[in-house]
Amino acid sequence: MGTQNGVIHGPDGSATTPSLVFIAALDRVLALLKNECPDAVERIVAVSGCGQQHGSVYWGSNAASLIAEMNPEVEMREQLQDAFAISNGPIWMDSSSTKWCQRLERDLGGPQAVANLTGSRAYERFSINQVAKLIDTHPNEFKNVSRISLVSSLLTTIFAGRFVGIDESDATGMNALDLKSKIWSADVLKSVGGAAVKNPESTLANLLGPVATPYLPVDNISSYFVERYGFSPKCKVVPFTGDNPSTLAGLGISAAGDLAVSLGTSDTAFAVVAKSACKPSGIEGHVLLNPVDPDTFIAMLCFKNGSLAREQIRDKHANGEWADFNSMLSKTEPGNNGFVGFFHPEPEITPPTSKPEQIHIFDANSDAPVSVASVAPEIQIRAIIEQHALRLKQHTQILGVSKVKRILVSGGASANFEILRVLSNVFGVPVYETVGGSTAAAAYGGILRAQHAMACEAEGGMYVPFQPDIQVRLVVEPDSAAHGVYQAAMERFEKLERVVVAL
Ligand code: ADP
Repeated sequence: MGTQNGVIHGPDGSATTPSLVFIAALDRVLALLKNECPDAVERIVAVSGCGQQHGSVYWGSNAASLIAEMNPEVEMREQLQDAFAISNGPIWMDSSSTKWCQRLERDLGGPQAVANLTGSRAYERFSINQVAKLIDTHPNEFKNVSRISLVSSLLTTIFAGRFVGIDESDATGMNALDLKSKIWSADVLKSVGGAAVKNPESTLANLLGPVATPYLPVDNISSYFVERYGFSPKCKVVPFTGDNPSTLAGLGISAAGDLAVSLGTSDTAFAVVAKSACKPSGIEGHVLLNPVDPDTFIAMLCFKNGSLAREQIRDKHANGEWADFNSMLSKTEPGNNGFVGFFHPEPEITPPTSKPEQIHIFDANSDAPVSVASVAPEIQIRAIIEQHALRLKQHTQILGVSKVKRILVSGGASANFEILRVLSNVFGVPVYETVGGSTAAAAYGGILRAQHAMACEAEGGMYVPFQPDIQVRLVVEPDSAAHGVYQAAMERFEKLERVVVAL
């Protein structure tokens, strides 16, 4: 379908994926399921899962009947090839909608106003800004759009055999849902539709459809899956959600005070926060609705400089070996004798910095950076590890996460005990890992959410607490003396970070 690694990159920063790719992927996965576990399919009680956040899909005028009347003898990709009014939908890598983000922020009173309303300031990849762009750049195709889905609700829709709304939680990654009322914001839709769309509030709200409650089944599975793959006609369909909220569910975290830290290629963190405490930021991070708990929010942070920045320091100073990196780390004390570093080989997003290839290190005596070459390798190694733990604490606090009770880690660098020890000491809380690893946490979240929805349905559609049976193992507990050192260092770290952002 003309993609490279699933994506078509355009010259203007656009990144799209043919919507048919998602359908073809589903054909393939289900064929595998039928071949590998033929006897298990009919015992599946409920289906759910997740799709990559921010990807959007634009159905054409004939889509509803094509989806409802699929022939079980034929693969879906063949039957749905004409189902899309716009065949390539924007995905999370798309950065081409800056102009429309600026318009939304202007119309609503600035980035903080957009964040207060929708959970995040206007971001290029957030779907409503992509919709605004398509309205202006593809007016003829857009006229034929009968419904807008995200990748997640495309899957719910296919399984149910009819259009199903975007689930509340994935909808908070669009800049369009009012966080408090959980309905599409009329002010956002008015700005997005502008003069080009008649009655934009109602027209766009109809195209988006009502949002789905993430913890309740929406329907039985459609006859296509019963006849072609052998699913039970009683199998329920539970709204799919975005991969990030699904990861949170897959790690089994649900209580306020839980902080999930993912140390993969890029570093991310999610925390469950009481609604009253949560503070969306007009500068950084996101607040999402929690798919497994209607009474809390998810505060989410992404950092661009994670494992790759650590690898650069390892390769430069520790022979490219994590074992050497760790033995050099242990030569220095918590607090690094006052040395603080900021390692941004890529422009950082939390906090936003504009200049690439920047490393700044400060010694204990001055608020001006020293020459990096003059700083001993082991100090640089501790500085990059302490920076990540300190910035996690500082920036989760900005979103209102003040009472972290425990940390759950995942991702490649969570194999490194020394990194986890610093994390534990900075926050002053124990660090846990899930037993059996958590590399498939996003997909596993789909299973746990399907189970959860069935538990809620058994109670007549009342919400019941999400309490999956996930085993965790304690990795490290904090050392109180080291925690005290980091508590005392926080204020200076915040001050130096402001210096770096201004450089
Ligand atoms: P992704 O986010 O792409 O799924 P992973 O979660 O597998 O990636 O994480 C990969 C990263 O983990 C690599 O960039 C690597 O530098 C880092 N990593 C692997 N082992 C260690 C270790 N022992 N210490 C620190 N970092 C590590």
